[in-house]
Amino acid sequence: MINNVPDQPRCSRCVLPRYAESVRCNNDGVCQLCASELSPSNVTDEDSQTKLDSLDDRVSRIKADGKGKPWDCVVGVSGGRDSSYLLRELTRKHNLRCLAVYYRTPFTGQVAHENVLRMVERLNTDLEIMNLSAKFHQELARYMVILWAKKRQWMFANLACAQCKLLNGEIFRVARKHDVKWILYGSNAIESFQGATWRRSSASDSQGAADRHFSFLAQMRRMMAVVRKGTELLVLCPGLWRHWSVMFQASILYLTPNTPYIKLRYPGVNVLHYFYYAGWKEEECERTLKELGWQLPFGSGTTWRADCTFAAFKDYMLQETAGMTYMDSMLSNMIRAGMLTRDEAMKRLEDEQEVFPAKIRAALDVLDLPGSISLPNVPINRGEKRQPHMLRHRRPVAEL
Ligand SMILES: [Zn+2]
Repeated sequence: MINNVPDQPRCSRCVLPRYAESVRCNNDGVCQLCASELSPSNVTDEDSQTKLDSLDDRVSRIKADGKGKPWDCVVGVSGGRDSSYLLRELTRKHNLRCLAVYYRTPFTGQVAHENVLRMVERLNTDLEIMNLSAKFHQELARYMVILWAKKRQWMFANLACAQCKLLNGEIFRVARKHDVKWILYGSNAIESFQGATWRRSSASDSQGAADRHFSFLAQMRRMMAVVRKGTELLVLCPGLWRHWSVMFQASILYLTPNTPYIKLRYPGVNVLHYFYYAGWKEEECERTLKELGWQLPFGSGTTWRADCTFAAFKDYMLQETAGMTYMDSMLSNMIRAGMLTRDEAMKRLEDEQEVFPAKIRAALDVLDLPGSISLPNVPINRGEKRQPHMLRHRRPVAEL
């Protein structure tokens, strides 16, 4: 059995690795997010009613805007957990007429693909296939993984997923083509990576949390950070220039569904991040999906991001070069939101952390890179125990 979770010091309240690049801990070993009592916004008993009222208003507006049109809203589906659950909630709970849109990436396995087909059939939803090249997606991811292995920069992990960012633009194109005014997204505050955190406060703040996160200013700030990092990479790897167009589109134009560019280009199309209003409850989501016949893709220890074969490899890339994974971040957010105890999170890290050699091997096969790049700390062919984490030996960052 491979030790899946690096034995490294973590924040004493959540599970963020203490020496990860973006984590700062004080002398008590408490990270900056726990120390400042920041919490991702999520539904709690006392504020849920106000959020739901606000959600009802929005659903009414979506229905009013959809009158006389073939659909009320467009929803991107991937065969994964959250998009399947979103589609179910919109059709069954709110009676919205959805057009599901789908792009089969090179990393969408057969089980996830069949989940998409099963969901749209059971929920009686129309499906449109998006026009993006899976071949280019695979080539770009391969190129970025090779660069990452050479240069050891975590940003290449994000660039490997550039094609999925272009989906944001593609969904807007589909909505405009059919004159649909709303696009609904299944993201939630809990799964936002690290820096995106909100202060849990009054009931009316659910609106504020989403607005602040997706505000013009927040988008500009995020874009500037990406530009700075991108410039560093271009200096480091001049060969990257040949992909400048897709990098620019993925990191500036279509980084999120709320970029200034998208707002200007598609002024009549609105976005609603559904779970920021409805709240997101993991158990309810999993129970509902079971009833609908959703299947967990082969080899996944977790339902989260199980639709993407590359997700495990990306977590590995981030773990090795940024010192933390998406799973570290999500579980820590759940602890701060009061959804999980630290002990439960540690247990889940052991059970679900995605850096399993078998999954990494599967991603390398899709990338057409089996055995041709050297991966530290992954016993891909050797079957031996994982080495201690490289970042353990880094000096602690400046204390708060
Ligand atoms: Zn913490």
